[in-house]
Amino acid sequence: MLLTLTTTHRPATDLGYLLHKHPERLQTFPLSFGEAFVFYPEATEERCTAALLLGVDPVGLVRPKSGGVGMNHQYVNDRPYTVSSFLSVALAQVFGTALAGHCKARPDLVSQPLPLEAGIAVLPSQGGEPLIRRLFEPLGYRVAITGAALDDEFPAWGESPYYTVSLSATVPLQQLLSHLYVLVPVLDNDKHYYVGEDEVAKLLRHGEGWLDRHPERELIAWRYLKRSRRLVTEALTRLAPEDAADDDPPSLNARIPPLHEQRLKAVVETLKNHGVHRVLDLGCGEGRLLQQLLRDPAFTEIVGLDVSHIALEHARDRLHLDRLPSRLQGKMTLLHGSLTYRDRRLEGFDGAALVEVIEHLDPARLPAFERVVFEFARPQVVVLTTPNAEYNRLFPALAAGCMRHSDHRFEWTRQQFAAWAQAVADRFGYAVEIQGLGPEDIDAGAPSQMGVFIQHGR
Ligand code: SAH
Repeated sequence: MLLTLTTTHRPATDLGYLLHKHPERLQTFPLSFGEAFVFYPEATEERCTAALLLGVDPVGLVRPKSGGVGMNHQYVNDRPYTVSSFLSVALAQVFGTALAGHCKARPDLVSQPLPLEAGIAVLPSQGGEPLIRRLFEPLGYRVAITGAALDDEFPAWGESPYYTVSLSATVPLQQLLSHLYVLVPVLDNDKHYYVGEDEVAKLLRHGEGWLDRHPERELIAWRYLKRSRRLVTEALTRLAPEDAADDDPPSLNARIPPLHEQRLKAVVETLKNHGVHRVLDLGCGEGRLLQQLLRDPAFTEIVGLDVSHIALEHARDRLHLDRLPSRLQGKMTLLHGSLTYRDRRLEGFDGAALVEVIEHLDPARLPAFERVVFEFARPQVVVLTTPNAEYNRLFPALAAGCMRHSDHRFEWTRQQFAAWAQAVADRFGYAVEIQGLGPEDIDAGAPSQMGVFIQHGR
């Protein structure tokens, strides 16, 4: 199997610095499943191509004791001839520095978008040509694909699942390598090694800056993590699901989805404008809002609550709770609990935030939730945000009638949200005002909506 990386950046031989491989040398790297060779079929000022050729030892693969990887396949399989998770392992070992985005000799090149073309022979795709396009085109690649007949002599047998693919884009080399690292095994839909907890970390590390906005992120996580429901859920939760479909079409350089930032900023401002000091973040997730509240001296006591243990663990990591400076220690508490059961720990606060939480609740549990928040916890100010379903049709990546995230139980139009909010305010003695969050569309309104509830008599 062969991967070529070509650039027409001037001088094109800069590719050698970025890959840490000298264009004039042929280099060989021993791997657990065979050997990798790196060489440059062309290296001029105008055009430079680096080739990574993998020689997989099919006999070694089935003989683990001799240093192979113990694959359960027979000797005769397609592995020596196709690109697969072996390529990802080889990329990490042979081009590890470039994949991690380091380049001591020319640090300026690392983040620089370069005209690049990757050529892959032979790429297996479980999902055919359409899936290759669905995975790479949203990342900005021009994709050229040549299929191969199953048998040249018998065209009636149809196409094989193997393709020769060329991907071109102007991107930093590290991004191209990360895309290949993650997406090649996804296309192949197989991995030659056991997939455990650290694969989630790998997926998130190599997916940073693009996976959270990829329209196929669920399929990618599903296949990359070998269909482990637990790992997939963890990965998708950590990918900040709320932002995933929120913004513009995925673009290569977009890192932080701006809508969620705007939302959090609006929530913090609103809480401050209403003089809130002791605050609850209900359904705090990974703690993005908590992080902002913690930074702001206006908030003297902060409590985050979530029903998900995993989310709370990530919040704890994000906030570095064990290493906080002493002036912040004691200011923040994380609680495990559910918003559909009365919880005395939530009583007596000035304010509460519920950012993109309500749509995760089963509609049948809403009456319980309403009492837990507005009757029992009863903070003086409640700031609650939820998607505006009318805006969904403006998201190019979202199919008609779909919701923004698979865990959403419902999404309300502006009218539905207003009706619910007014009824709750009336029932529990609050006044409510609603505003849009994010760029307004004349017809569809803003992508997100925020209700601010103020207790009567405050
Ligand atoms: N507020 C966070 C997370 C939103 S995702 C943010 O804006 O980033 C929705 C969160 O609600 C998830 O973390 C989920 O675990 C939590 N959640 C869902 N049902 C819940 C319940 N019954 N009680 C408490 N939290 C719940």
